[in-house]
Parts: sequence; C-alpha cells; structure tokens
Amino acid sequence: IKDMADDEAIQATNDDASECKRYAVQLGYWCDPFISLFVKQTARKAPEINRGYYARVKGIELFVEKFLKLSGGKGQIINLGAGFDTLYWRLRETGNSPANFVELDFPSITAKKCYHIKKHKQLIDMLNTEDGEIRFSTTDLHAANYHLVGTDLRHIAELNNKLAQAEVNFNSPTMFLAECVLVYVDASATSSLLKWLASKFPNSLFVSYEQVNMKDKFGQVMLSNLRSRGCLLAGVEDCESLETQQRRFTINNWEGTSAWTMVDVYDSLPVMDRSRIEHIEMLDERELLTQLLQHYCIAVAWNGQTFKNLSIAQG
Ligand code: SAM
Repeated sequence: IKDMADDEAIQATNDDASECKRYAVQLGYWCDPFISLFVKQTARKAPEINRGYYARVKGIELFVEKFLKLSGGKGQIINLGAGFDTLYWRLRETGNSPANFVELDFPSITAKKCYHIKKHKQLIDMLNTEDGEIRFSTTDLHAANYHLVGTDLRHIAELNNKLAQAEVNFNSPTMFLAECVLVYVDASATSSLLKWLASKFPNSLFVSYEQVNMKDKFGQVMLSNLRSRGCLLAGVEDCESLETQQRRFTINNWEGTSAWTMVDVYDSLPVMDRSRIEHIEMLDERELLTQLLQHYCIAVAWNGQTFKNLSIAQG
C-alpha cells in the first residue's frame, strides 16, 4: 500500500510540471500551442520558477536539435517518464521530426494523455499516419511514427516488450530523454535500466534533467528545494553533485558523460533570448534564480561515436 501511495504521489508530479509549463507559456516565455490542450488552468507561479522552466525547456531543446542534426532524420527519440510533454507536436510543427518518437510513463498517466489526444482533433491530425491508421487502447496509442505506451520503467522485461510494440530499432541513432524522472526511481532500478539501455543501444545519447547539489554543508539532503509533494525521492543519492550524476552513467556502462548545472545552461542560452524573457517579469532578487538554477542540472551520456562529447555550446 505504501508503494502504491508513493507511485500516486510520483504520478502527481506530472501535474506540477505541466502546470508550471502551461503558466510560463501563457506569459510568453516560450511558444507551445499544445500544452493548454493537456492542462486547463494553472495558479500563478513565481518569476524565478518561470525562468527556471524556461532554462529547462530550452536546455533540453538544445540537445534535441543537436541530436536531430547528427542523426540526419534517421533517429528515434524515446522520452522516459514523458508525462504531458508536448515535444512531439512542437517538432512536427517545425517540420523537424525524428523517424520515430516514443513516450513512456505509468499507464495511469498515458491513459490520461491518450484521452486528451483523442479529445483534440488538432493533436490527432498532427500524428503522422501514412496508412491512415491509429491504434488506441485505454493506455497506449500507436501511429506511424508516434507511440505512447504505459509501462513501469522499473520492469525491464515489460519495457522491452513495449519498445518492440513501439517499433523501436535498437541499432538506429537513439536519444533518451528523462526530464525530472530518474530521481523518482530507486538507485538499483535506475542502475538496471541504464545498464540495459547501454547494452541494447550502441549508438545513443541520454539526456537527463534533474536535481543536483542536494546536500547542504552538513551532508543533509535539502528536501525543501525539491517541491516534491512529499513523495519518496528514491534516487536522490545520485543527485548529490555533477560527479555523482556522471558516475551513475559510467558505472552502468555508458562510454562517456558530461554534466552542467542549470546556471551554466542558462548562461549559454542566446543573449537576445535571455534578454527578452528577463523583461517579461521583474525579478527583484537575481540571487533567487541563481540559487534555484544551482540545484538542477543537465547530464548527458553517450554510446558510440555519433554523439560523443556533445556540449551546451550553441550551434
Ligand atoms: N518529463 C515530464 C516533464 O518534464 O514534463 C514529466 C515529469 S514528472 C516530474 C515525472 C514523470 O515521471 C511522471 O509523469 C511520472 O509518472 C514518471 N515516472 C516516475 N517514475 C516512473 C516509473 N517508474 N515508470 C514510469 N514513469 C515514471
């Protein structure tokens, strides 16, 4: 029963992320015509939270663009713990989609996502359907190059089945995305997952956004920074530092890895864009934003030569 309660609390973190994104989009931080189709309304969020989400979304997009360029239209993106993420539709809109796009989350979340997709013609119409066929179940959806599947990332055999159903090609260039997800998966399950992915996908890039610098000077985990809705943060030990974030990949057989705090990611974004969003809302204490950004990071890892040594440098 405790585990089920934890899982429910973990699934609720998707509401939090989606609401924050919707609010920042509504204020004009970035453009996403689709998020409001998944989330109806949101309460006000503080300016530093909105800027933090801006850096998160733009930081991930930076690596998505690099991946798409390097994989030359032949790659696949696999979003682990995708929640209500709208990346598939944002890429379709720019005409820059990968060959295949797979989203995984708990079945309770994918069922809700399926429901929203079915309800909005705009979302359905953008699913690429060469043969006109879209297959739905309560929790899963399969179109020509978009697959939404319900599974628990802690169960590798089931994950393997679901990836096969999603027509994943293990030898194609593959990008894994885990945006605020691994922290909710316990260390041994994350380890098995990363090891398994490393063994199956020889030509791949893993991009993870998550908490970092989570211990104070007394070695205590700073839970107050996590906005965690009180759920179990099973993977928090790996969030201690950029080094522990990277070590998690190397000990699980990924060939190389890099990591940056969101302070670095924010500072690497184009000056014009930063200047624009810094005029959307007043932020009296710039220090508040820096403190927040110091506690999140992007860690990347790669297998094979194609995605070796990718960095946050623009272009
Ligand atoms: N990645 C999305 C984003 O950034 O908008 C959602 C982030 S939300 C904080 C974390 C997501 O991870 C939730 O949707 C949750 O259900 C999913 N998740 C956590 N543990 C999972 C597991 N063991 N299996 C599948 N999904 C999981």
